[in-house]
Amino acid sequence: MLLELDHVSKIYGELHAVDDLSLTVPQGQWLAIVGSSGSGKTTLMNMIGCLDTPSHGSVTLDGSRVDELRARELADVRKNLIGLVFQKFHLVPHLTALENVMIAQYYHSVVDERQAREALARVGLEARAHHLPAQLSGGEQQRVCIARALINCPKIILADEPTGNLDEANEHVVLDLLRELHVQGTTIIVVTHDALVASCAQRQIMLNHGVLVGEQWHDENARAQYEAAGGRPAFTGAAVHGAQHEGDAPIAFADPTKAAKTGGAED
Ligand code: ADP
Ligand code: MG
Repeated sequence: MLLELDHVSKIYGELHAVDDLSLTVPQGQWLAIVGSSGSGKTTLMNMIGCLDTPSHGSVTLDGSRVDELRARELADVRKNLIGLVFQKFHLVPHLTALENVMIAQYYHSVVDERQAREALARVGLEARAHHLPAQLSGGEQQRVCIARALINCPKIILADEPTGNLDEANEHVVLDLLRELHVQGTTIIVVTHDALVASCAQRQIMLNHGVLVGEQWHDENARAQYEAAGGRPAFTGAAVHGAQHEGDAPIAFADPTKAAKTGGAED
């Protein structure tokens, strides 16, 4: 498994933002994490992306327990393993698209303009290389962010509401990019409110108040492969010893996120 969460919690005072969640994700899987606002999705992503540490439990990435790494090793894991895409684009306003991508290279200690141009070309933006973020549409800005996330050829792309600020046309462009990355073998974990975005993933888990409330597969082959490799349904704390036994079907759920973007009009 590329990612293993073992009884992970994040606790703020009385609030269990993520509550005793266990989850494994193999290399190459495309997973969506859904749930209403405040359900703990970003908190979970930040722990997976080594931007935050769990209060309890452990995160293992590519065989290394994150909490046992030294600062240098942790920096290497962040650099070499993970590409981050956010809802808010976090582009530097006074730098061009090309320079914004090159910033990521700078952090990886390889500044190579040709490679940065290639990353922009991969997201279809070579012609916009010298535009400032303000001169780009929202969709184009998000594509710059994806180019930036791709610069180190990460094994895993973590995208937190990557289409949250985009119109439908740009949402499709971003989804096509994720699809292409998935085909190339990249592991993708995407947090989303949007049922369409979630349905593109092979597997979907749902959080509510930091607790797992459902798991669903959209790709039965991927499921069979996962289970054959010993993969288990995600689970929350006590559930594994109690209600949800090993081998039980994962909890099914109706998808209340469906109405979030479509206003419920679409089915
Ligand atoms: P989501 O991304 O699903 O909307 P978040 O992970 O951002 O949810 O937040 C989950 C819960 O944790 C929310 O109730 C939020 O207010 C709380 N929370 C998040 N970060 C902090 C923090 N740094 N300090 C205190 N509470 C926080
Ligand atoms: Mg969030």
